[in-house]
Amino acid sequence: MTDCIFCKIANGEIKTLKVYEDSLNFAFLDINPSSLGHTLIIPKKHYQKLEEMLEEEAKEMFSLVFKLAKIIPKIVGTSSCNIGINNGKLAGQEVPHLQFHIIPRFEGDKGSPIQGLVRMKVNKEELPTLAEKIKKEIKNPEIVREGEEVKTEDKKSKEPKKEEKPKVKETEERPAKSPEREWQEFNFEEQDKAPDFSEARRE
Ligand code: AMP
Ligand code: ZN
Repeated sequence: MTDCIFCKIANGEIKTLKVYEDSLNFAFLDINPSSLGHTLIIPKKHYQKLEEMLEEEAKEMFSLVFKLAKIIPKIVGTSSCNIGINNGKLAGQEVPHLQFHIIPRFEGDKGSPIQGLVRMKVNKEELPTLAEKIKKEIKNPEIVREGEEVKTEDKKSKEPKKEEKPKVKETEERPAKSPEREWQEFNFEEQDKAPDFSEARRE
């Protein structure tokens, strides 16, 4: 979309503090951060809302959110973060280009939990019927927009060969740390120069 600010960020027309980019997704620091490390993850394609994406694209995007959520809180010296999408105007979305927010949380940051954002009166007697409706609808194949298989350039070139996969017997516990291989495909630009905020101030 030509007049979308996040499309312009994704194609490099507008400068930003980029932390990651591949053929599908782009991640950068929020210009008006709610906390230190507040990061936005966007698809390069213009979608306003999550449900407009193809399922494969959504998976790729979530995989990036997963990796960033693992490292950003650590880098800024905390153990918690909120992860979310303002999915639509009523949910507070200001920029009409889908974005995941990762917002690190700190002791005394004056924030609230996500569920504290909304306080609507709900009749609890309606909830069992609602649960049944959702249970039924999730089996409807039409809820998923499937497309051609989506592959990032990074994945194509760096996907490990089958025999390189770590062999973990089913009875063994998962290794405490992810295999190093998993991180090799995750290249931050100028990773070595990334600032260390671990001693950052707390208000
Ligand atoms: P939302 O309400 O979910 O659409 O949030 C939009 C977010 O984008 C806000 O947190 C803004 O601070 C952030 N934002 C807007 N313009 C820019 C920009 N040029 N660079 C980085 N972040 C931006
Ligand atoms: Zn856009």
